[in-house]
Amino acid sequence: MDVENPRNKEIIFLGSGGPFTLPQFFCNCRICNAARENPSLNRTRASIAIVGDEVTLIDAGPDMEMQLEREGIDKIDNIFITHWHYDHIAGLGAIGYPQAICGWNPIDVYLPESLVIHFTQVLSFLDDHVRLHPISPGAVINLPDANWEVVKTNHTEESVGFLIESGVRFAYLVDTALPPDETTKKMSNIDLLILDAMFDSIDTKWRHFTVYDAIEYWKSSGAKECILTHLSCHRWEDRKWIAGYTSDERTNIERENPGLSFAYDGMRVSL
Ligand SMILES: [Zn+2]
Ligand SMILES: [Zn+2]
Ligand SMILES: [Zn+2]
Repeated sequence: MDVENPRNKEIIFLGSGGPFTLPQFFCNCRICNAARENPSLNRTRASIAIVGDEVTLIDAGPDMEMQLEREGIDKIDNIFITHWHYDHIAGLGAIGYPQAICGWNPIDVYLPESLVIHFTQVLSFLDDHVRLHPISPGAVINLPDANWEVVKTNHTEESVGFLIESGVRFAYLVDTALPPDETTKKMSNIDLLILDAMFDSIDTKWRHFTVYDAIEYWKSSGAKECILTHLSCHRWEDRKWIAGYTSDERTNIERENPGLSFAYDGMRVSL
């Protein structure tokens, strides 16, 4: 690193949406229609890039290539995978060509130990393009831009989140409902909590936070600031998928809760 001109590190939200893009092709609600009229309200699948001396992604969803192009990110060094759901892993198949064409070192992919079998079965054509690193809760990984700790989330058997120290100490807990106590205990002295808030409200047990459950969790955690992401911007009520908060209502929720922000595609946080 050039000590005279250290590169600014930042988090870039590649996507801030839930498992479907917003607007959703099958939905004609007022939230989707507002996004059709104003593309700045569009959301692609949730993922972040940590950009410093290296480029490290958390998750690689189906929108990954377009997200990287949109943000002017022209390299991938590392990818951390939270869990094996389509909206978090469907971009992995695309990483072999750029690695080979650009002559990068094999991309380091960190994924929960029990998912390695899925990777090697489904994505065996990437063998020469990646180095796989099985991880499990409690593991610590030291990379040039940040030190990472793997923590357990509450979504699938294998799902994990990350506690990251990179000047700013922050956590990325997506997808999850209320995480296990051993994870929550680690959230007490962090600067920023980035949290799943998939549903604006919900009347059944999906393994995701709602917006207000996520806000309550953040306030009880002790973290200074909170960014909500993985936002479907819809409710799931009476077995129906219906419109959630408008963007004005989201702005009001932010005003009522200083330190809280809703993520948006392209949002940047300096580290
Ligand atoms: Zn998801
Ligand atoms: Zn809709
Ligand atoms: Zn999921």
